[in-house]
Amino acid sequence: MDFSFSDEQKAIRQTARDFIAKELISREPEALRRERKGLPGLEISEVRELQQLAKKFGFWGVSTPEQYGGMDLPAVSQALLATETGRTFIPFRFGGEADNILYFANDEQRDEYLIPTIEGEKLSCFAITEPGAGSDAANIKTSAKRDGDDWIINGEKTFITGGNDADFAIVIAVTDPEKGAHGGATAFLVDRDMGWTSHFIQTMGEGGPASLVFDDVRVPARNMLGEPGQGFELGMKWIGKGRYIIPARALGAAERLLQMGIEYATTRETFGKKIGSNQAIQWMIADAEVELEAARWLVMHAAWTVDQGRDARHASSMAKLYGATMANDVVDKVMQIHGGMGYTRELPIERWYREARLWRIFEGTDEMQRLIISRDLLRGYTKVGGHLS
Ligand SMILES: Cc1cc2nc3c(=O)[nH]c(=O)nc-3n(C[C@H](O)[C@H](O)[C@H](O)COP(=O)(O)OP(=O)(O)OC[C@H]3O[C@@H](n4cnc5c(N)ncnc54)[C@H](O)[C@@H]3O)c2cc1C
Repeated sequence: MDFSFSDEQKAIRQTARDFIAKELISREPEALRRERKGLPGLEISEVRELQQLAKKFGFWGVSTPEQYGGMDLPAVSQALLATETGRTFIPFRFGGEADNILYFANDEQRDEYLIPTIEGEKLSCFAITEPGAGSDAANIKTSAKRDGDDWIINGEKTFITGGNDADFAIVIAVTDPEKGAHGGATAFLVDRDMGWTSHFIQTMGEGGPASLVFDDVRVPARNMLGEPGQGFELGMKWIGKGRYIIPARALGAAERLLQMGIEYATTRETFGKKIGSNQAIQWMIADAEVELEAARWLVMHAAWTVDQGRDARHASSMAKLYGATMANDVVDKVMQIHGGMGYTRELPIERWYREARLWRIFEGTDEMQRLIISRDLLRGYTKVGGHLS
């Protein structure tokens, strides 16, 4: 068993780390000031500029196939990069990317949606969640009914990331109510100017999601993504990727936070000595480090499983569950180490505290990950201790 990264992976990681320190971490104080005024930490135009700058360093289309000008990196390298971007709370991701399920586009859709999304000319969002169907995504009610050469979509989607800015939505709607979501739901590419509306949802984090309303939205049949009845399967494929990328990002945040905790523990003095000389503080640092490293190997194992072409759902659920809870625990410990300063808005700890909470909720709550993990074991699909064999 080889736990080391290749020279190429180390080089990619170091270049990304340098770029993120220089171009993103340096912008954090300004991003915090903006967010306090209710503005985005980075404007979309600034994100695009930074993505172009990152392109000069070779970062473009991390997961995008080479035929579209991407790096087509293996999942392990993608996870490594997500960890690096997770080291800043600034919501940045490298450019040249499209939703993984957009590759199910046909030739016409490829030119109209996939390539413009990769090029950053169009913004997409992915919409499965509804007010009455979150964890229970198979309970979606948004309907698409055939009308001549078109489909008419009615329903409401909620909590859609990027829904307020997107040019088009990838919408999962029920086309065959008899079959239900499994086999009866279909994905559609729905332009904003086809008539859907969006409303920003305030959250405890920054850059909130949106609710989308579809009121007799007419979509041409050529905008169906994939096959009729394939919508739920595509939806789960979209979500599946987040289950190792989200904890990979959480890992980066935890690394940076723990480093902040260590620096504070070795400089802050109380009762005439550094707080890091107290066992209470040492134990918090030790526990955070152990949790962080345990999460790293769950994330890397999930990504490696993807690279092996194996079913990575079980491994990814373990990575998502543990990685998200780990980051919440680490941010809490690091806030505690900082005392009152940790609670202020002068430091970014409270910013991360608010964001990290989301990681336990979206793209499958903790409870849903536990449900998947236990169900696999109870049904004998995965054997205890068997996932490495
Ligand atoms: C900021 C943000 C961004 C998001 N982005 C997107 C997006 O881009 N696209 C998209 O489609 N969706 C998105 N979501 C939706 C997200 O995936 C859902 O919020 C999530 O799946 C949980 O669904 P819910 O909120 O309806 O909670 P519910 O399903 O109502 O669950 C409520 C609580 O009950 C628990 N629970 C539910 N069922 C069970 C059970 N059987 N056993 C035990 N516990 C259970 C849950 O774990 C949770 O604790 C986003 C959400 C947020 C907050």
